[in-house]
Amino acid sequence: MNAPKIKKLVAGNWKMNGNMQFNQSLINELMYGLSRQAQSGCDIAVCAPSPYLLQLSAMLHGQPEVTLGAQDVSAHESGAYTGEVSAAMLQDFRVRYAIVGHSERRQYHAESDAAVAAKAQRALGAGITPIVCVGETLAEREAGHTEEVVKRQLAAVIHVNGHCISEIVVAYEPVWAIGTGKTATPEQAQAVHAVLRQQLSAASEHADRVRIVYGGSMNAANAKDLLAQPDIDGGLIGGASLKVPDFLSIIAAAR
Ligand code: PEP
Repeated sequence: MNAPKIKKLVAGNWKMNGNMQFNQSLINELMYGLSRQAQSGCDIAVCAPSPYLLQLSAMLHGQPEVTLGAQDVSAHESGAYTGEVSAAMLQDFRVRYAIVGHSERRQYHAESDAAVAAKAQRALGAGITPIVCVGETLAEREAGHTEEVVKRQLAAVIHVNGHCISEIVVAYEPVWAIGTGKTATPEQAQAVHAVLRQQLSAASEHADRVRIVYGGSMNAANAKDLLAQPDIDGGLIGGASLKVPDFLSIIAAAR
């Protein structure tokens, strides 16, 4: 069961969207909207594409309510890894979170569980909180393998990062719910979150501090019910994070 003191996290995953002008108006609109909401009772982050981290870092400077996240981090420290971005580089832009193991990276870039674990380790080593994504495909769910899949994915991360596992954020993102408009029901999501919490508890006495957030077509209409579940500690929001009124509604539901 979730500890009541846990502070929810609402993180936007912009994916490969945005441009300088769009980002600027989104952040302006977001900050204005937040200034009109009650004092934040949750942590808020935006995970932007790497080329815009400098812009976002400057815009969010002196705005502690919204923190900056990256969408990936290299498993390597430095060197001949063309196109990759290291944890130290993210640190330069005051990046607080890095998504690792998003299903789109597992699927399109063949990222293995071991690679995801190594990325989480690099992030932690740089003081960046990895948002570790786990989740089953529709075929895996229909075959009754949901629990086995998410536990295998999380086990790899625990194996490498056991000593500091309470520092991570876990995102349960059923692949069939990402960008599809199909959301896990609050009961389906809670059931998986409880399994993940139990797995974390076996690895750390601080498992009740680990935020396990849900991702997969979370929106203004379904956020409240999902976030009311005892083991759902926030959301990783794709599409709806690009529409400020929707993102603000999700944040309000998390408070
Ligand atoms: C995501 O990309 O992490 C995500 C949850 O996307 P969406 O909210 O669009 O389903």
